[in-house]
Amino acid sequence: MTTQAFPVRIEWMKAPPAKAATPLSAAALELATRLASSLPDRETLRHILATQQPDEIEVIRQAAEKALLKNCGDTVRLRGLIEFSNRCISDCYYCGIRRSNRALARYTLKLAEIVDTARWCGEQGYGSVVLQSGERRDAKFTRFISAAVRAIKEQTRSPELPDGVGITLCVGEQSPETYAEWFAAGAHRYLLRMETSSPELFTRLHPATQTYASRINCLKILKTLGYRVGTGVMIGLPGQTLDDLVDDLFFFRDISADMIGMGPYIPHEQAVLPYMEAGAAMPDVATRLQLALRMIAATRLLLPGINIAATTALQTLSEDGREQGLRFGANVIMPQATPLRVRRQYTLYDGKPCLDDSAGQCATCLEGRINSVGRRILRDNWGDSERR
Ligand code: SF4
Repeated sequence: MTTQAFPVRIEWMKAPPAKAATPLSAAALELATRLASSLPDRETLRHILATQQPDEIEVIRQAAEKALLKNCGDTVRLRGLIEFSNRCISDCYYCGIRRSNRALARYTLKLAEIVDTARWCGEQGYGSVVLQSGERRDAKFTRFISAAVRAIKEQTRSPELPDGVGITLCVGEQSPETYAEWFAAGAHRYLLRMETSSPELFTRLHPATQTYASRINCLKILKTLGYRVGTGVMIGLPGQTLDDLVDDLFFFRDISADMIGMGPYIPHEQAVLPYMEAGAAMPDVATRLQLALRMIAATRLLLPGINIAATTALQTLSEDGREQGLRFGANVIMPQATPLRVRRQYTLYDGKPCLDDSAGQCATCLEGRINSVGRRILRDNWGDSERR
């Protein structure tokens, strides 16, 4: 395995896409044949991430789009994102709301406001919401989540959704009992990002109290309990290699993930990685964006029926980043529904978009973006993955 991190800057985004009339190179034709005939192996996945040839990249994009349309259809599934608290007991070195960031004013929304926001999402036809916060494990917090889940379920029932909106929780590592309690309350999806499948890299991103083994164990428990489980990684971390990213793809497969939410690594000024201070270099913006799009395509080709999010981090690096994500095989978007007055206090990374747009403006903007790439919104539907 190579240990050299991203040795070349990939320039393909600046090149025009291959036109239909332009004959494909022999290599692109061979790649198209390979992608059409079988699931990609390690060598092919690595090539998907590494190639700089515009015609090959367009072949990859088209193959991913074809796999998406065949296995999941042309709809985009929405999950209204409610960032209900930025209090966190953990200290992930890359995160803007980590415990050690004393410059941040902390907030937790009232239960009624969370439920009202979820109800608004249901009325827009979103079908699902994500309740996201920093990590806490105290009893007051776990009971608060149970109460929120139950209230949202009760208050979002409709003829289209007799069981209320689908609820994804994204509140970190918890005990098996807590996960079970929330599942019983009505949450049926859980997003717990691994951030990297490399134990060495994980260790460099977290303090010693937060371990790789514990994160993996939580993912396994969530699966055992019956949750639909989402995970994901950061792409373009300092010191990360293409082989690390290929390992991430097989990790998604081996953990039987139902959803993947991944995006380019974007630093936060209050969360400088210690090993970057020691001189580790980060790939430039273009490379991180390009790699993130290729990772979406590679995931779609390896796991055709899975849900893949076009994350806001893509839009941070490029104005049309989320649309590009959809074109490379993503099929989930999380419209921002967090109340405007606290939204600036939930910045995990710098440059996060949509900080000043109301939830209504976000909904309108997103629909336009989705339609612009020939896709349509799946309304009044939980939008679970096609796996199982
Ligand atoms: S990534 Fe999550 S658990 Fe880690 S510091 Fe940020 S909010 Fe807390």
